[in-house]
Amino acid sequence: LNDAIGAKPRPTGLDQVAAVIVVLSGKGGVGKSTVSANLAAGLAMGGLRTGLLDVDVHGPSIPRLLKLTGFRPEMSPQGMLPVDWHWNLGVMSIGFLLPGKDDAVIWRGPAKAGVIAQLAEQVAWGARDVLVVDCPPGTGDEPLSVLQLFGPKAMALIVTSPQDVAVDDVRRSVTFCRQMDVPILGIVENLSGFACPDCGAVHHIFSTDGGARLAEEMDVPFLGRIPIDPEVARSGDDGDVYLAVAGQSPAATAFKAVIAAA
Ligand code: ADP
Repeated sequence: LNDAIGAKPRPTGLDQVAAVIVVLSGKGGVGKSTVSANLAAGLAMGGLRTGLLDVDVHGPSIPRLLKLTGFRPEMSPQGMLPVDWHWNLGVMSIGFLLPGKDDAVIWRGPAKAGVIAQLAEQVAWGARDVLVVDCPPGTGDEPLSVLQLFGPKAMALIVTSPQDVAVDDVRRSVTFCRQMDVPILGIVENLSGFACPDCGAVHHIFSTDGGARLAEEMDVPFLGRIPIDPEVARSGDDGDVYLAVAGQSPAATAFKAVIAAA
């Protein structure tokens, strides 16, 4: 209708955002939020004007990962203001809008879609080089609305773990992005081997290379493997961004390589 009557599209908070990286996973628990937080922090530390938007309605973990639990976003005439974090990383999470930290989201589908749309369009991001979006897992209605809302600016980064079942889920994620015409930046294999803090070696507990094989088979870039590192889990629990405290460990090196490739 806008085209027919020659009206300008409604302005949204995304108008000055150059690119959107939507972080997807075929299932929960593979480290999607951990990768999103470290990717956004790494891009911000590298000097890009970066935003991080958490629309994981089932488990918004970004506030905990960044020690922002309990924050409430301020309002401006342009919309909700992202919380300004270290390195000028702007953060917005569905968790900021819930009444308490233990409140689960029990809205029905249309209400969830409405809140996701509100967060996508009504946050006053201002000028940003990149916005990282932590998306709900799977290939159902919620990730679908996220990809639709970010439309032509969206690129997908798919996180998987090396086990075959997770990898099968990723195959669906790749197909899902293709059906939605969303370009795929690449696949990251997280929880890929165990980085032993004592001997420094990476031990492969599960089968390896599932993500790499799948990337090759589906003709999608493979961005790298991040090993299991107890420090990643500890930093997430304590609200430290792993990359900022990690030094030169195998997982830190792997995260940096993923960020550079993205
Ligand atoms: P998702 O967003 O996919 O549900 P999370 O990012 O919340 O997954 O990660 C699930 C759990 O696994 C968290 O406790 C997190 O700290 C831990 N975790 C994620 N990646 C790693 C890793 N590379 N090494 C160790 N623990 C990790």
